[in-house]
Amino acid sequence: MSLAIETKNLSKSFGEVHAVRKINLKVREGEIYGFLGLNGAGKTTTIRALLGMIRPSAGSVRVLGKSISSDKRGPWKDIGHSVEKPAAYPELTVKENLEVARRLQGIGDKNAVNRVIAQLQILPYENRKAGHLSTGNFQRLALARALLHNPKLLILDEPASGLDPAGVVEIRELLKRLVKENGLTVFMSSHILTEVSRLATRIGIIHEGRLIEELDAKKLEEMRSQRLEVKTKKSILAKKTLLKAGYSVSRDNEILILKDKRAIQHSENIATILVNAEAPPSQLSIKQENLEDYFLRLTGAKP
Ligand code: ATP
Repeated sequence: MSLAIETKNLSKSFGEVHAVRKINLKVREGEIYGFLGLNGAGKTTTIRALLGMIRPSAGSVRVLGKSISSDKRGPWKDIGHSVEKPAAYPELTVKENLEVARRLQGIGDKNAVNRVIAQLQILPYENRKAGHLSTGNFQRLALARALLHNPKLLILDEPASGLDPAGVVEIRELLKRLVKENGLTVFMSSHILTEVSRLATRIGIIHEGRLIEELDAKKLEEMRSQRLEVKTKKSILAKKTLLKAGYSVSRDNEILILKDKRAIQHSENIATILVNAEAPPSQLSIKQENLEDYFLRLTGAKP
């Protein structure tokens, strides 16, 4: 499968600040790639380098098979982006804004505006002034503008920022549909793992300028740590019994915590052992680390 984005040892420093350090990104065509990192991790800097907006200090960038350099020749006609704060003329309507953008971008296809209005389902708002739009609809307008020239690759910096939960869901469904119907590749940044995990097929995690993990979204579930929690009134006896049976156990009042795979996969054995030892469990449950905790553990922000 060919790569839509490939960086080799991409680095960018601003004086003493190493914003991006030796990043090797591989984004395959047709995937939704979530570029995840805390504030200041280096997401925007990376994206700006992908779009040729800044010159890397070292390393190389290829997008859609073309090398990105400062001579401004690049695969721009096939890339749509929404990176800078989405600006629009507040006194013009949505449709007028799109028409202006079409002309500024030199897009000959006069039907482009109607096409993106239909694609993004903004027909009900097409005559509303941009200055009167909700944040969610404003984001849609930014997306519509990014799609005017029918790009193959969409690069978005925090597309869900500032949106309420309903708006986040809307943008998510929209992007999924665009990928499915138009075969787009999407590269989007975010600082919210739960948001990315619902949308992306692949996830790259950037921390302090370094790409610390790249994984299939499906793998994410497996990577999160699991534990078996056992509640019993006789927790001291229960802990002793399980230790004797070869399990590692920690205790927090009436709750015992077991992290062994065999305990998690065969919790029925734990129940049997405890019943036989007359320390019957009143509750057995498998808990999974929540996504945000997993993310913070990966980045070292939380033990
Ligand atoms: P956020 O989500 O907060 O936008 P980010 O992951 O996009 O964060 P970047 O904006 O890429 O992070 O910033 C990475 C680091 O580089 C930060 O420490 C930032 O202060 C620094 N930085 C970014 N642009 C510049 C610049 N033009 N001059 C100096 N430092 C910069």
